[in-house]
Amino acid sequence: MKTVLTIAGFDPSSGAGVTADLMVFAAHGLFGTSCITALTVQSTMGVRAFYPVEASILSDSLACLDDDLPPAGIKIGMMGTRAAVATVCDYLERLRRRGSDIPVVLDPVIRSSSGRELLEPEGVDLLKKRLLPLVDWVTPNHSELGWLTGRSDIKSKEETVRAAEDLQREVIGHGGKPLNVLATGGDIIPPDDLLVTLASRHHWMSGEHVETSSTHGTGCALSSALLCRLVLGDDLITATRNAKSYVAEALRSAVPIGRGRGPMNHL
Ligand code: PLP
Repeated sequence: MKTVLTIAGFDPSSGAGVTADLMVFAAHGLFGTSCITALTVQSTMGVRAFYPVEASILSDSLACLDDDLPPAGIKIGMMGTRAAVATVCDYLERLRRRGSDIPVVLDPVIRSSSGRELLEPEGVDLLKKRLLPLVDWVTPNHSELGWLTGRSDIKSKEETVRAAEDLQREVIGHGGKPLNVLATGGDIIPPDDLLVTLASRHHWMSGEHVETSSTHGTGCALSSALLCRLVLGDDLITATRNAKSYVAEALRSAVPIGRGRGPMNHL
């Protein structure tokens, strides 16, 4: 059985972070391992605080797992601090030096949808300069794409395409290979479309809006499902399409729990 690794934060309400990622991995028949970057304090009502895990613990965990359960793919989510970003970069550089070409998907978590900062500003800077050139995919939502490119003007499909191209150019400028960008529509019109930019080719995938309040951890689930589909052998476009369908079904079948934005259904 193939093993896939998530490097992300812990959400005690199980809607996002490593717990959600592990459920997505299991739903795809893959064995999931996890390294926690930070403990968050949150419920369906939003994130109250986060406490970073010491970088040495993260680095030891990555080395320990790699020794025994080397991953067939890696998903990176919330990192919290610059130190965590640096630790993850060191690990990926070691893998690349060994000749590993496993897929690495980065969900660039910068802020929760409840508005809490989940990556310190120095971490955002390092993520752009050092981490993005080491990954194969990045899956920003509309706001994250704006923060990563310094564009506050993304209000249309054309501007989304330009921002994705900016991001790719910047990564190549920092010595990376062509980055695949999966940008989610967020609040642009129509809201549930996805842009997939592979090298210089753009593909829009039309979205189906699922009316539900159970949207906590949608970004975590999409990036994890994308990684699973890539590890299972889908080509890039099919992987995106299947990941998108997975998320739509998890939203459709979600049962409301909690007083706020509840979790999706991965069972
Ligand atoms: N908590 C953790 C640990 C996360 O990784 C994330 C997002 O990736 C969130 C919270 C925020 O999730 P949401 O924006 O769906 O509330």
